[in-house]
Amino acid sequence: MKFELSELPYELNALEPYISKMTLELHHTKHNQTYITNLNSEIIGTKYKNLDLETIIKVADGPVFNYAAQVWNHKFYFEGLKPGNHNTLKGPFADLIKRNFGSVSFFKNSFIKVALSLFGAGWAWLVLNPERSIEIILKSNAGNPMRIGLVPLMNCDLWEHAYYLDYQNRRKDYLEAFWKLINWEKIEKRYNEFSNTEVSFLHN
Ligand code: MN
Repeated sequence: MKFELSELPYELNALEPYISKMTLELHHTKHNQTYITNLNSEIIGTKYKNLDLETIIKVADGPVFNYAAQVWNHKFYFEGLKPGNHNTLKGPFADLIKRNFGSVSFFKNSFIKVALSLFGAGWAWLVLNPERSIEIILKSNAGNPMRIGLVPLMNCDLWEHAYYLDYQNRRKDYLEAFWKLINWEKIEKRYNEFSNTEVSFLHN
């Protein structure tokens, strides 16, 4: 299977002023494209060559895993964002967050605190666990929660390439900006999709 760069669901300048056009362009068309190019070249002539991305992530190790997971993680990240500073968490999903974290503001503070605690490159994730509660976890480098049976709902790229041009060492400022861009309707949709596929989830 040859993997290709997926289209962004918005223009390259659409996340400004929180994420600049330059950052998004480099992130998507250079960093992400490189992961795709490297993945395609790594799987040639291997047992992975006909597998879909999610299967590769679950079974591969080394460079194949790293590239495959980065391709998946980036698509998930870009699709979890949307332009604007008026994206609010509301409705049934907000109630779920409140049940799990007490309040939306405690949830936000917790997510940012966890994301700040990652040493080096990696990802912060909001996941659904087999007990059907949601939690915030960190994964270093290309780590992906599907490998340990968790269902990803949201992720935040904590590699410096995601924010260094805009925020330099100020990861917290990037996280505050990221928070303004979260597409909560999309995150809730992901949650609802997995909630409706109970069997495959519980036995994955
Ligand atoms: Mn990235």
